[in-house]
Amino acid sequence: MIFGKYINKYYWKYIVLIVLGLAALIAVDYAQTLIPEMYRLVVDGADKGQVLLDGVMRSFDMQFVWQEVCVPMFFIIVFIVFGRFAWRICLFGSGIRVERDLRREMFARCEQLSCEFYSREKIGNLMSLFTNDLETVQDCFGSGIMMTFDALFLGGLSLYKMFRMDWAMTLFSLIPMALMVAVSLIVGKYMTLKWETRQQAFSDLSDFSQESFSGIAVIKAFVKEFKELLAFRWLNKKNEDANIAYTRISTLLNVFVTFFVESVICIVLGYGSYLVLQGKFTGGQLMEFIGYFNAVIWPIMAITELIEMHSRGKASLKRVSDLLETTVDVCDRPTAADVEHVAGSIEFRNVTFRYPDADYDALSDVSFCVDAGESVGIIGKTGSGKTTVADLILRCYNVADGTLFVDGKDVNDISVHSLRNFCAYVPQDNFLFSDTIFNNIAFAVDDATQQQVETAAKMSDIDGNINGFSHKYQTMMGERGVTVSGGQKQRISIARALMKDASILILDDSVSAVDTDTEKNIIANLRTARQGKTTLLIAHRISTVRNLDKIVLLDNGKVVDVGSHDELVARCPAYANMVALQALEEEEGL
Ligand code: ADP
Repeated sequence: MIFGKYINKYYWKYIVLIVLGLAALIAVDYAQTLIPEMYRLVVDGADKGQVLLDGVMRSFDMQFVWQEVCVPMFFIIVFIVFGRFAWRICLFGSGIRVERDLRREMFARCEQLSCEFYSREKIGNLMSLFTNDLETVQDCFGSGIMMTFDALFLGGLSLYKMFRMDWAMTLFSLIPMALMVAVSLIVGKYMTLKWETRQQAFSDLSDFSQESFSGIAVIKAFVKEFKELLAFRWLNKKNEDANIAYTRISTLLNVFVTFFVESVICIVLGYGSYLVLQGKFTGGQLMEFIGYFNAVIWPIMAITELIEMHSRGKASLKRVSDLLETTVDVCDRPTAADVEHVAGSIEFRNVTFRYPDADYDALSDVSFCVDAGESVGIIGKTGSGKTTVADLILRCYNVADGTLFVDGKDVNDISVHSLRNFCAYVPQDNFLFSDTIFNNIAFAVDDATQQQVETAAKMSDIDGNINGFSHKYQTMMGERGVTVSGGQKQRISIARALMKDASILILDDSVSAVDTDTEKNIIANLRTARQGKTTLLIAHRISTVRNLDKIVLLDNGKVVDVGSHDELVARCPAYANMVALQALEEEEGL
C-alpha cells in the first residue's frame, strides 16, 4: 500500500469498492485454508481405511471421498475462482480509478503552471510522469491493498492453523521467513534509490527522443543524424544501465526469497518426518501442515514484493507530488477581482522586469500608454523586449505593484483569468493543434458557425488557401494532416485570434512570413475589424506599423520614443535610421 498527501483521500473516495474487494479477498483466503484439511482426510483415510471427521470416525470409501472431498472441493474451487474475479475487479479497478483521478489532478495543475515552468521543465519528463510514474502508483494502490490484506488474512489464518497443529514446527519455519522480511526491508531502501535513477534515465531518454523528432528538419538539414544517433545511444545505454542495476537488485532479492522459502521446506519435511516417526503426527497431518505452509508462502512472498513495489511507488509518488506541489507563480492575489468589461487602455508605468533566473533586465523603466481602441505598433531590434511587453500584458509573469495598468486598474488587482478573457493573442511560434482548420480557427469560441470562421479567415487573407485544400475547412492540420507554410500558419493563427473579437488583441511578429501585399491586406482588414478595440502589433518591419495610431520604439529593454510614424521620423534619429535602412533594403531587394 502507498500513502501520501495526494493519495490518502482516494482510500476514502473508493472505500465501497475497496471494502467489497476486501470482503471477497478474505472469503477466498478462508476458502483456501479449507483445502489442506482435504489432504489429511485423503492421506489418513487411504493409509488407515478410516478417518476422523467432525469428531466422528468414518470409514474411508469412494462414497466418503465423493461426498466429503470431491463435491466440497469442487464448490470451494468454484467459489475461489469467482471470488478472485470479484476482488480483482474491485481492487485493481480502484487502482485504475485513482490513476485516472491523479492524472486529471496533474493535468489541471499543469494547465495552471506559468510559462516559466514550461521553459524550465522538459516535456519528455512530464510525459514520463503522466505514463510511467502514474502506472507505478496505480499498481501500488490496487495490488498494494490486495497484497497487504492477503498477507494479513491468508498468512494469519494459515499460521494460526499451523500453530494449532504444532507450535514448535511453526516457529522453526518462521525464523527464515523473518530473516527474509528483514533482508527485504534493508534492500527496499536501496531499491527506492535505484528506481528513482531508473525513472530519471527514462525521462531523459523520452526528452531526447521528443526533441529529436520535433527538430528532425534541423537535424537533417545540418546532416547531424549520426551525432544524434550517438547521443541517443549514450542515453539509451544510461537507461539500460539504470534498468540493469534495478533488475539486478530485485533479482537478488528474489533469489534470497526463494532460498529462504526452500530452506523452510527442508525444515518442515525434516522435523515433520521426525514427528511422524515419533507418532506425534499422522502422515495426513503432515500433508495438512505442508498445505498450510504452501498457503503461507504466497503471503510472505507478497510481503517482499510489497516492499519492492512500495519502494518503486514511493519514488514515483514523490515525482508526482513534486509536480502537484509546484507553486503556481502567476496567480490571483486575495484582493484580485474579476472584471466585467475591459475597454482596452494599457499603461506601462516605469516597468522594470527581469525573467526568473536571468542575469539582466529584459525591460528597464519602460513607460508608455495605449488608449482604448488604439492600434499601436511595438517595434525594435531582436531582443529589445517586444515579446516581453506582450508576456506581461497577458500575465504570463508577475509584475510589481503600481507598474502595469489595464483600464486604469493595477493588473495585480484583476483576476488573471478574467483579464486573459478579454485578450486575444497571436504568438510568435503560431502554434496550431493537430485538428481541423475549422476547429483551430474556432478554438476560442464555443459553437462557432461556419460563417464566423470563414469571415475571420477572409480577414486574415487565408480563406483562398483553405478553399484550395481538398477538405477545405475540415482539412486536418499537423501530424495527422496537411503541413502548411509559415505564412499560412501565421494567417490561420491571426484568424483564430480575430474570432475571439477581444478588447485587446496582441499580434507578435505575426505578418513577418507573408509578402508585402498580403501584409497590407491583413493590416487594412485588421483596422476595419478592430475599429474601437485595442490592437498591439509587434513587428520589426516599418511597413507593418507605419499607418498605426502610435508606435513604441524599444531598444535594449528601454523605450526610445513613442509617437506616430511621421512624428518619429521627424524627431527620433534611431527610428529615422531604421526607416532609411529598411527602405534601402527594399530597394536592393527590388
Ligand atoms: P524581442 O521580442 O524584442 O525579440 P524578447 O522580449 O523576447 O525580445 O526578449 C527580451 C530579452 O529577454 C532578451 O534579451 C531575451 O534573451 C530575454 N528573454 C526572453 N525570454 C526569456 C526567458 N524566458 N528567460 C530569460 N530571458 C528571456
